[in-house]
Amino acid sequence: MIIDTAAEFDVRKYLRMEMMPHFLCPGCGHGIALRALLWALDELQVDKDKLAVVSGIGCAGRLSAYIDANTFHVTHGRALAYATGLALARPDLRVVVISGDGDCLAIGGNHLIHACRRNLKLTCLMLNNEVYGMTGGQVSPTTSATMLTSTTPLGNSEPAFDACALATAAGAGFVGRDVTHHVPKLKELIKAGLEHPGFAFIEVLSDCTEIFGRKNELGSSPEMIMRQKSELRPSAYRDTVDTPFRPNDMQTGVLAKNERPEYGTAYRRAAAAIKAAAGKKGKK
Ligand code: SF4
Repeated sequence: MIIDTAAEFDVRKYLRMEMMPHFLCPGCGHGIALRALLWALDELQVDKDKLAVVSGIGCAGRLSAYIDANTFHVTHGRALAYATGLALARPDLRVVVISGDGDCLAIGGNHLIHACRRNLKLTCLMLNNEVYGMTGGQVSPTTSATMLTSTTPLGNSEPAFDACALATAAGAGFVGRDVTHHVPKLKELIKAGLEHPGFAFIEVLSDCTEIFGRKNELGSSPEMIMRQKSELRPSAYRDTVDTPFRPNDMQTGVLAKNERPEYGTAYRRAAAAIKAAAGKKGKK
């Protein structure tokens, strides 16, 4: 049983309060996801001086600006590339990437695949709101079929990407998904990802209440959050009902885990061996 000790966690100690008020729309799921992340970091007693948060462009990408740590707001889709360099050069840091579905799966899709394959110790939090919220509500790789966006006025005709299936197939050491409906449960998932010794990919289904919700008449923010529970049904059941909302088999929790060697450790070991061999040659 997960005990909700949210009342004891003061999120302000991890926030740059001078940056307030934040830019998020009322009811946006991204604020809930940010709280869950900061709560997880707090429970793991992560030193803010040893925490690096890298983010790309978009509503999710803006979140790093509010975190009182070492933060990097980088180019669109490239957060994982920057984070890879950082984690390799500074293994003493805890490196976290915050990305949106467009940033992570479209513009940065290639970086995601290779980050999964490489298995460097990083935690990637992908906030899936099914849309490019900040730039005008265009269709994204995770927009559910038939949903309306500014670029699909007749309804999206493409199937949505299953990001967790992609990360699993590409070899990510840890893959998980959850919703913003239950923050303590989401926090526990993020904690497990942060503790994983390799690459951890966590998808958070986070509602864009303003751009996506209003366009599709999904109701108020609380209504959207409550729907997260009822819409997350196994695909076998989904196929029998007439609901276009999040049609993939959206299982939640830890979806995949493997203990492949962590890339940074293997890389440093190989580099040291090459250096030692070169030193021996030099002495001859
Ligand atoms: S546009 Fe959507 S995702 Fe962006 S802050 Fe507003 S509600 Fe959140």
